Amino acid sequence: MAATSGLVWFRRDLRLDDNPAWAAATAEHTNVTAFFVVDPALFDRASTPRIRRLLGDVTALDAALAEHGGRLLIRIGDPRVLVPQEASRLRVTAVHVNHDVTPYATERDELVKSALEANGIEWVPEWGTLVHEPGRICTNAGSLSQVFTPFFRVWERTPWTPWPSSGDATITNDPGDALPELDGDYPVLDGETGDAAVAGERGALARLDLAVARADSYDDDRNTPSITGTSQLSIDLRFGTVSPRRVAQIVGESTAGRAALVRQLAWRDWYAHLLIATPSLVEQPMKPQYAALQWRNNDAEFAAWKNGRTGYPFVDAGMRQLRETGWMHNRVRMVTASFLVKNLLIDWRRGERYFRHVLLDADVPQNVGNWQWVAGTGPDASPYNRVFNPVLQSQRFDAGGDYIRRWVPELAGLDASAIHEPWNVGPLELAAAGIELGTDYPEPIVDLAFSRGRVLDAYAAVKR
Ligand SMILES: Cc1cc2nc3c(=O)[nH]c(=O)nc-3n(C[C@H](O)[C@H](O)[C@H](O)COP(=O)(O)OP(=O)(O)OC[C@H]3O[C@@H](n4cnc5c(N)ncnc54)[C@H](O)[C@@H]3O)c2cc1C
Repeated sequence: MAATSGLVWFRRDLRLDDNPAWAAATAEHTNVTAFFVVDPALFDRASTPRIRRLLGDVTALDAALAEHGGRLLIRIGDPRVLVPQEASRLRVTAVHVNHDVTPYATERDELVKSALEANGIEWVPEWGTLVHEPGRICTNAGSLSQVFTPFFRVWERTPWTPWPSSGDATITNDPGDALPELDGDYPVLDGETGDAAVAGERGALARLDLAVARADSYDDDRNTPSITGTSQLSIDLRFGTVSPRRVAQIVGESTAGRAALVRQLAWRDWYAHLLIATPSLVEQPMKPQYAALQWRNNDAEFAAWKNGRTGYPFVDAGMRQLRETGWMHNRVRMVTASFLVKNLLIDWRRGERYFRHVLLDADVPQNVGNWQWVAGTGPDASPYNRVFNPVLQSQRFDAGGDYIRRWVPELAGLDASAIHEPWNVGPLELAAAGIELGTDYPEPIVDLAFSRGRVLDAYAAVKR
């Protein structure tokens, strides 16, 4: 093979295993530079814990490359400038990447691709962040299904593209710029200790082991936020420290629980496929009639929601879990999002942006897709007249009140029958639990029946 140099620009694929861009580059070139750009624009968009997690994973990737005799070349600045610049400086013949699906990434990549091609450097994109690439999962009519179940039927019987195999290229040994330093530990979730608390691919595989150990009961436990009943792999999938195919392969489908967990990866693919097909989803409702919805957008209520002070314990528990850990259980994400959009009649885009800033797993297609689902404005969405009742949801999915007790400790003295709706608890019982409503814990900021009627009217007005 003639000696050539290639560059792999790592973005949200911070691993060497099942990484098609890495495999293609190391197989095609004799010399490969592993490259990462710290884009300062990110520091405005992401919470500090998420940046800390990212930088931890980048450092771990560098350490993994060192085991192969190389280093991760790091540069700080605008990737639209730095990628073409470094590619020319290193005299590479090709830049290899795994696609990203957001409008921001697509636009950035188009600019980088043009700049590279103007210098005679090839742009080689692969798909490494999804189980199936966009365009592969089509209905009989040859298009992307706007409904999940038909998509899933094709998804589960579509064969995977072959696993990529890496070559033995020499890896460049130039570390580049020092990473910015942020105080604080690498953020991990409940129950993740030992290897499962370390950054990068090694940590991700240990976290996957934990997820596999509880996968058989996933179907039974996934809706109980007080326990660790889900895989908690969303952050690793977000940063690409593990590939979704590796997760699907290792979890398998030998039990109902395992199959149900793998099915969630199809939702992840579906929202990504939808976003690449319809980039306006990030800002616009997929169902155009909802663009005319009259939101109330009350700032004080938005602040109460963000701070976990709505007076609805299940909602507040979720918002506090999010603020304190950067993660929230899926059931509670649905209830808190519904509360904002339906009970407070606040634009889903405000909630989506807040989640996008704070979530460690914040991922534009998943976040936008789910927010539109909750708002009833998106594809295969929850019907507009479905308004989650936060009290009934709490009684059903946190029957013993353990989740509320953990995140809203001021209510911990109330028993399981009282904790879901403290405003209905008599003064003696409240006093015995050490609670003065309105002082220690807020009165409900909105009446459920009234707000249900209000949102149904607002949606009905634009449906007509
Ligand atoms: C309003 C709202 C916002 C959300 N924002 C995000 C987000 O920014 N990033 C994100 O990864 N997920 C998001 N989700 C989806 C879901 O809540 C999380 O993926 C899940 O809670 C992560 O926990 P887990 O890894 O234990 O999930 P598990 O239940 O173990 O599922 C395994 C994996 O499947 C994928 N998955 C699961 N549920 C969904 C779903 N509903 N949609 C798409 N993919 C799914 C995730 O990658 C997840 O890691 C959002 C859901 C809602 C209702």
